[in-house]
Amino acid sequence: MNNSENPTALIMIFGATGDLAKRKLFPSLYRLFKRGKLSERYCIIGVARRELTNSAFQESVRQSIEEAEGHHDDLNEFITHFYYHSHDVTDSSSYLALKTLANDLDTHYQLEGNRIFYLAMAPEFFGTIADHLKSDGLTDVDGFKRLVIEKPFGHDLPSAIELNNRLRQAFAEEEVYRIDHYLGKEMVQNIEVIRFANAIFEPLWNNRYISNIQVTSSEVLGVEERGRYYENSGALRDMVQNHMLQMVALLAMEPPIKLTDEEIRSEKVKVFRALKSLEGEAVKENFVRGQYGPSNKNNEPINGYRQEPMVKADSNTETFVAGKLIIDNFRWAGVPIFIRTGKKMATKSTKIVVQFKDIPMNLYYQHEKTLNPNLLVIHIQPDEGISLYLNAQKSGDTMNATPVKLNFSNNSVDHMNTPEAYERLLYDCMRGDATNFAHWDEVALSWSFVDKISQVWENQQAEQFPNYEAGTMGPKAADELLEKDGFHWWPVESGDYR
Ligand code: NAP
Repeated sequence: MNNSENPTALIMIFGATGDLAKRKLFPSLYRLFKRGKLSERYCIIGVARRELTNSAFQESVRQSIEEAEGHHDDLNEFITHFYYHSHDVTDSSSYLALKTLANDLDTHYQLEGNRIFYLAMAPEFFGTIADHLKSDGLTDVDGFKRLVIEKPFGHDLPSAIELNNRLRQAFAEEEVYRIDHYLGKEMVQNIEVIRFANAIFEPLWNNRYISNIQVTSSEVLGVEERGRYYENSGALRDMVQNHMLQMVALLAMEPPIKLTDEEIRSEKVKVFRALKSLEGEAVKENFVRGQYGPSNKNNEPINGYRQEPMVKADSNTETFVAGKLIIDNFRWAGVPIFIRTGKKMATKSTKIVVQFKDIPMNLYYQHEKTLNPNLLVIHIQPDEGISLYLNAQKSGDTMNATPVKLNFSNNSVDHMNTPEAYERLLYDCMRGDATNFAHWDEVALSWSFVDKISQVWENQQAEQFPNYEAGTMGPKAADELLEKDGFHWWPVESGDYR
């Protein structure tokens, strides 16, 4: 019997010598082991082209875990469960040897025929690998079989449909786990708990009491060495289609009738269906694109996007997106949800600010100004926590009110934060819980929303690019987008709105 709390499985990682495997997957697996969440019956086969012996591979696994987690004596035992198979995924002839190895290890470790295929490789290989896993019998198992894939899931809706159809020849929808690592983050998962476990929020969570919601995910880094990939992607496809829209869905969905993956997904899908689609002029009115230009902050010259390696000198690719989303349903009619994300911004921060409406009559003032609105801030990364801004009497002063901040902080450290998301997602996948993975219906609906925007942008050269200086919070037009509605971005840099 497979114990669902300590699942037994053979995990085959394609791309086991790559960056993702080293930085995220191996440390996450070790953390699961350390916490007793892996059964003793587990085994990992690493697959990549380069020639490596099992022991050289085990050493590289040890090294990557030590880099992330420091030295631990039990690592010696942990890495003995790792095996390596040198294999070019485009070479049909070597899948049979991989199957023999998997079957032997299955028997050796008594894995009950449970298999997870993790594709930590470039997406152009996903279809080929899935075809072979089926045709060469690697998916003919007595236990469960699951496929885990990384973003990007397609480049647009037609390519995503094509990829999905191909994967579905080998795996049923419930066997496909599409990673969106934001869904593994503690505070993203906490959105549902904050909303549905607190009587003080859920009754206010609608257009009667909320004036607008702002979701920001800003990065300080530029595209670094990923220029080739980014030129074909841009911030809209890289961040908005997946992470940003997933956070919006969790913020806007109705309470599910049960906390099961089907019920939660069905509520999220309704949000995507209610998302007002934008075309033509409406794209220009509601979405802003940006590209960072060079800057000379603190006398340190910083490259603009067009000066980055493997980026065209007249690139039309956006490194910043801000947008106003309208969820056309009873709960949210009239409440804009503003999103913004970009590279080379002033600060690294992912935050959600829920701004409540002003009270009908102002009896109090805040130093001659009108009162601060109540704000609920959900800090997702690098700091994790919740802040609630209320107004309270300033001591000895009965006419003035001062914003006070109620704060809960998870006190997390950034580099500890990232592997944890993968750790959770790997564990969920082993237990067969797909709640925190993107279902095909969500992927398809979010592509159809995003495609209309990218079509407008691709057909028109952005003449104003670059339009924000590296190290700032994006172009001026992103501020004007909110000003048109009488709002402004709450600063994410300081994180303190008093
Ligand atoms: P990477 O560092 O370039 O690694 C690619 C891996 O694939 C290497 O192990 C490479 O090893 C192997 N490989 C390439 N061609 C192969 C072939 N024909 N047959 C067998 N193995 C082959 O890439 P990555 O950064 O780990 O990213 C992997 C995937 O995760 C991508 O889809 C990426 O978009 C996604 N992702 C990555 C991150 C991240 O933090 N790195 C984050 C989110 C998503 P050999 O050269 O030895 O074959």
